[in-house]
Amino acid sequence: MTKRILVTGGSGFLGSHLCDRLLDEGYEVICLDNFFTGRKQNILHLIGNPLFELYRHDVTFPLYIEVDEIYNLACPASPIHYQRDPVQTTKTSVHGAINMLGLAKRVKAKILQASTSEVYGDPEQHPQKESYWGNVNPVGFRSCYDEGKRCAETLCFDYYRQHRMPIKVIRIFNTYGPRMHPSDGRVVSNFIMQALRNEPITIYGDGSQTRSFCYVSDLIEGMSRMMQTEADFTGPVNLGNPAESTIRELAELIIRLTGSKSRLEFRPLPADDPVRRRPDISLAREKLGWEPDISLESGLKETIEYFKGVIREEG
Ligand code: NAD
Ligand code: UDP
Repeated sequence: MTKRILVTGGSGFLGSHLCDRLLDEGYEVICLDNFFTGRKQNILHLIGNPLFELYRHDVTFPLYIEVDEIYNLACPASPIHYQRDPVQTTKTSVHGAINMLGLAKRVKAKILQASTSEVYGDPEQHPQKESYWGNVNPVGFRSCYDEGKRCAETLCFDYYRQHRMPIKVIRIFNTYGPRMHPSDGRVVSNFIMQALRNEPITIYGDGSQTRSFCYVSDLIEGMSRMMQTEADFTGPVNLGNPAESTIRELAELIIRLTGSKSRLEFRPLPADDPVRRRPDISLAREKLGWEPDISLESGLKETIEYFKGVIREEG
């Protein structure tokens, strides 16, 4: 029988690419979303596919359906969105994980939790390995996301130890690509939209902070390989591109690739903004045989084409 797979947060940026991939592989997909940051446009092309089902639901409420696998991606990922309703953000990660783990337990489904590099906080170890416990402020503006995701990881591991459930935890590092929301607020979408409109590029701080940017197709490949690993491999495993850039370098690259006339505008750095971030992906290489192969330049070119289309549609 065809496997039935639940993707929570399925109409968001990563979730919609995952739905595409699972349908291409011939699975039945239930895409669940409350449309907090997700958009119908991301999955419009899937409506009418007999293997695809869209379900409006909030993961903070229990869910009773029958599925074989669960990818739990529901949670706003951009700092401006997850800080808009921080209580709901914590609830989404924590109650959402409890509900999805409870569902997985009842129907004996395998569950993959989308965790984040934010569990390392403002890291004192560089690059970050999975064995590092992190440096997280528990009472700051980012805590609703960071601590919510950390607690979701705890819940996964307690369900694994207590109920011997098959869990898979991935820690996603900054990922970008087509279908990011144009006003998502994350750095890649902000800079590309600003560059295409010849508006000032808003650099927070002096732009010397670093991130390591992974293209969406690479990330989805890693996520899918993780779900297929042997039962005893739980992770957590880092998924990201180890090529590290400063935010200023990213701005300059986007200006060059778009041929923009934008200038750089420096704005105050938000509180607790991590100074450096780069994944150590040795574990993913070893266990998943995975590493990213799309360079920042080629990934950005694809993403720029996507945002040009968004601007054309806006008229
Ligand atoms: P996104 O905001 O585009 O997608 C999140 C989706 O979850 C949206 O469709 C949103 O409407 C939905 N959602 C939010 N709260 C919900 C709720 N209570 N019930 C049901 N649906 C809800 O973000 P994304 O980049 O696609 O991120 C997907 C997942 O990956 C998130 O869990 C995020 O924390 C994780 N992640 C992403 C990145 C990245 O760089 N993209 C990095 C680390 C972790
Ligand atoms: N950033 C920036 N200008 C923007 C948006 C973000 O300089 O318009 C910076 C932000 O301060 C951070 C980095 O870019 O240092 C990445 O931010 P993002 O919100 O994409 O993700 P984060 O990794 O901080 O969760």
